[in-house]
Amino acid sequence: MGFLSEAKEYQKTKKRFSKCLAGLIADKMDEELLADYLEALADETIASTSLSTVLKRRGIEISDTTVSRHRKGICSCVSQ
Ligand SMILES: [Zn+2]
Repeated sequence: MGFLSEAKEYQKTKKRFSKCLAGLIADKMDEELLADYLEALADETIASTSLSTVLKRRGIEISDTTVSRHRKGICSCVSQ
């Protein structure tokens, strides 16, 4: 494979897996939890620190910074 086509191939693969953790965990949630999670993300009265704390309680290690970036749309999910 030539360098250019290899770089293009790699870029495709990279994009497919470049979701941030806040996006990745959503893929693993069941429907009920996912609905709650998305609603909580959209709810501006719930702080990102609260979301990350509750997620940690449920065994999902995620930082409030990651949650906050995902909510603002400045995470790696955006390029999907
Ligand atoms: Zn994200």
